[in-house]
Amino acid sequence: MRELIERIEKDGRVLGEGVLKVDSFVTHQVDPELMEKIGERFAEVFKDANITKVVTIEASGIAPALYAAQTLGVPMVFARKSKSLTMNEELLTSSVYSFTKQVTSTISISRKFLSEKDNVLIIDDFLANGQAAKGLIELCQQAGAKVEGIGIVIEKSFQDGRELLEEMGLKVVSLARIASLSNGKVEFIEEDA
Ligand code: 5GP
Repeated sequence: MRELIERIEKDGRVLGEGVLKVDSFVTHQVDPELMEKIGERFAEVFKDANITKVVTIEASGIAPALYAAQTLGVPMVFARKSKSLTMNEELLTSSVYSFTKQVTSTISISRKFLSEKDNVLIIDDFLANGQAAKGLIELCQQAGAKVEGIGIVIEKSFQDGRELLEEMGLKVVSLARIASLSNGKVEFIEEDA
């Protein structure tokens, strides 16, 4: 997605260890106009997949997932990384190792928000090794819901996430695909949509 790539080129910062910082428009401060366009693009790609829920993980997946859900006319559900006191009903849970925080956390969604009747579009801000997406897929599997596809805002194609998800037979659509972050420079490869 041309606009997203230009924004990464302008405002993205390469940190060491293969990490891209996009905190001025995605992961901390959020650009609503760009996020709306990103959500609309995901909705366009998956418009014929009979999506009934858009599922993401807090916090940075919420903005693109919400706009996609709004355009598709379905609810958005986000997995929580810590258990809230008000979550007293039955939970779907899985473990996710965080690439950026280097800790394992238990993620959860209330069972009442996902069922075997659901066709799910999973959305996240980044795809690195695929652990966050895998955790969300496991929650869907526990509910008996069908995962129709994965929408990723920024894919780091030099890591293993896409391969892991495609091996599971899933359609992965990334709006920006990064080939390399070497020498402090962002190199792109052709994106999916
Ligand atoms: P994965 O689970 O695919 O290994 O990593 C995806 C998750 O880690 C995303 O939800 C995102 O929060 C975080 N992440 C992975 N790589 C980066 C990165 O380069 N920059 C930022 N800001 N977050 C990342």
